[in-house]
Amino acid sequence: MKESTEIERCYGRSGREFTIIRRDGMYECPSCHNLYKWKKSMLSHLRNQCKQPPRFECPHCTMKNYQKSHMIRHLRVHHPQLTQMFWDRKLSGFFRL
Ligand SMILES: [Zn+2]
Ligand SMILES: [Zn+2]
Repeated sequence: MKESTEIERCYGRSGREFTIIRRDGMYECPSCHNLYKWKKSMLSHLRNQCKQPPRFECPHCTMKNYQKSHMIRHLRVHHPQLTQMFWDRKLSGFFRL
């Protein structure tokens, strides 16, 4: 199947023009290249999630991660002697494994 790419011009809230790329009918985030079925979800991702700091943080070192499973593995491997807990940015609290 031939890949189709379309370019759409959009204006952000600041009035700055930016380009949206459509690949095979999916909207691509111009910043991280995730694909979305709907333009609305891509734009809300771009405003709210894209390039957000990682959700999970290790309280014992500077390690941060977007995925809980990676954080759990990090704690088990790097801090087996310390309290197995992590910071969840979204819920604003510490959680124990
Ligand atoms: Zn993105
Ligand atoms: Zn750590």
